[in-house]
Amino acid sequence: SLLSMALAFDEYGRPFIILKEQEQMNRLRGLDAQKANISAGKAVARILRTSLGPKGMDKMLQSPDGEVTITNDGATILEQMDVDNQIAKLMVELSRSQDYEIGDGTTGVVVMAGALLEQAERLLECGIHPIRIAEGYEMASRMAVDHLEKISKTFEFSLTNIESLVQTCMTTLSSKIVNRCKRSLAEIAVKAVLAVADLDRKDVNLDLIKVEGKVGGKLEDTELVYGITVDKDMSHPQMPKRIENAKIAILTCPFEPPKPKTKHKVDIDTVEKFQTLRKQEQQYFDDMVQRCKDVGATLVICQWGFDDEANHLLMNRGLPAVRWVGGVELELIAIATGGRIVPRFQELTPEKLGKAGIVREKSFGTTKDRMLYIEQCANSRAVTIFIRGGNKMMIEETKRSLHDALCVARNLIRNNSIVYGGGSAEISCSIAVEAAADRIPGVEQYAIRAFADALDSIPMALAENSGLQPIETLTAVKSQQVKEGNPHYGIDCNDIGTNDMLQQDVFETLIGKQQQILLATQVVKMILKIDDVISPADY
Ligand code: ADP
Repeated sequence: SLLSMALAFDEYGRPFIILKEQEQMNRLRGLDAQKANISAGKAVARILRTSLGPKGMDKMLQSPDGEVTITNDGATILEQMDVDNQIAKLMVELSRSQDYEIGDGTTGVVVMAGALLEQAERLLECGIHPIRIAEGYEMASRMAVDHLEKISKTFEFSLTNIESLVQTCMTTLSSKIVNRCKRSLAEIAVKAVLAVADLDRKDVNLDLIKVEGKVGGKLEDTELVYGITVDKDMSHPQMPKRIENAKIAILTCPFEPPKPKTKHKVDIDTVEKFQTLRKQEQQYFDDMVQRCKDVGATLVICQWGFDDEANHLLMNRGLPAVRWVGGVELELIAIATGGRIVPRFQELTPEKLGKAGIVREKSFGTTKDRMLYIEQCANSRAVTIFIRGGNKMMIEETKRSLHDALCVARNLIRNNSIVYGGGSAEISCSIAVEAAADRIPGVEQYAIRAFADALDSIPMALAENSGLQPIETLTAVKSQQVKEGNPHYGIDCNDIGTNDMLQQDVFETLIGKQQQILLATQVVKMILKIDDVISPADY
C-alpha cells in the first residue's frame, strides 16, 4: 500500500493514528490522494468495528487529566480519540451527525462508511474513476433507502400499552454496558419520553428530560422523578423536610443585607454604634423575610448563600430556604414550577412564585447525602432521570446509554416505522441492490455491486464480534432470506436459537437506519471527490 498506517496509543492510552510517510510528504494528488484518504477513513472504522452489536467490545479511554471513560458508544469513542488526520476527523463528524439527528446507530454508521471505503479502494485499483464510484454509490444508497421503506413495519403503541416501546429501548440497551438493568432503564426512558411528548404533534422535546447522576447506591436504584432534583439540601437541618403546595421564590439576588462598601468609611468607635448597625442589618434582613412571606412564598431558592445568622433567622421565622443553587438549575426550576427568576428583591410579586405539589428532601442510606426533589410541578412536562451507580464512570456510561434509549423512543413517536436489526435489514438491502445492479448499464453497476457488498459488512461484523464465522454465517442467512423471501433473518448474536429478528424482537427505527446509509454514503462520496491533499511541509 502507498501509505503505511498504524494505530498507536499516546502516553494517556488514547488511540491515535499515525500516517507514517506524512512527514516527508506535503502534497498528494489524484489517485494517491484518494488512496491515502481511504486508508485514514478505514483506520477509524476498524477501531469501531469490534464495538458493534450486543457482543461488541467496550473501549477504555483516558483523557489527558487522567479521567477514564469506558464506553461502547461509537460517538463517544471517536469524540475522545485524538485524531490529527483531516479525513479521520470527517469520520468523527459522521458519527456525531448520526448522534445529533438520530441518537443511535453511531457505531454502525462508521462501520458502514469504512466498508464503502474498502470497496471503493478495490474499484480504484481496477481503474474505475472515483466520480463514477461516487455516482454509483449515490444510486445504490437511494435504492437501499427505498427498499428499507418497503420492508418496514409500523410499530404499534399507545399510552396504555407501552410494552412495545419498552422492548425497543431494551434492544438499544442490550449492546451497552448497562444491559444488566435494561428492563428498568428502558421503562424509565419510555415513561420519561411520554411524559414530555406532544403526541398530537408527534414531537418530543428531549431538553425537558434532565438526566442527573449521583455516585452511590446501585444502578437498580435509578429512578424517574416527575419533576426536578437538585443536589442541595435545606439550608438548616431543622427546616421542614417536606413542603406541600410549595410557593417558591427563585432569587438570583443576594438574600442578605447590603454589605457596607469598602470605599465608604464607617466609623464604629463605640459599642452603641456597633449595636445600632447590627440592629439595622438584622432589621433589614427581617424585612426581606417578611417580604417573602407577604407575597406568599413558602420556600426560597437562592443562587447566593447567606450566613449562619441569617440562616438561623430564616429557620425561626419558618421560611425554609435552599442556598447556592446553580444558574442552570434555577432556570430548570423556574420552567418546571412556572415561576420567574427574580433578579432584584423589590421585584418579588406573588405571580412570580413557582408552584410545586411537593418539595421534599431525600436522604440516601446512612450517608449525609441529601437531595431536593421538586415534584408535581405546575408544568408537569419536566422530568428528571436520576441515575445511581457505584462510580462516576458507570454513571457517565449510563447517561450515554439512556440518551440512546431516549432518542429511540423519541424517534418512534416522530415516525413509528421500524426495520428489523441484527443485520437483517442490511442483508435484505444488499440482495435488493445487487439485483438492481444488473439492470444498470455502464460502469456504475460495479459501484452498485460494491455497495451491496459493503452492506454485508454489518452482519459480518456482528457475526465476527459474536464469535461466529463471518462468511459462512452471512452466506447461510442470506440464502435463507432469498429462499423464504423473508427480510427478517439476521445474525443470532446472543445464540438464542433462531435468527428471525422478528421473533427475537430486535428492531431499529426506519429513519435511523435510512439515516445511517445516507450519511455514510455522503461522507464516502466526499472523500472520493478529494483529489488534492496539501499538508504542511514541516508537519
Ligand atoms: P450503534 O452504536 O451503531 O447502535 P451498537 O453497538 O448498539 O451500535 O450495535 C447495534 C447493532 O447491533 C445493530 O445492527 C443492531 O441491529 C444489532 N443488535 C442489537 N441487539 C441485537 C441482538 N440481540 N441480536 C442481534 N443483533 C443485535
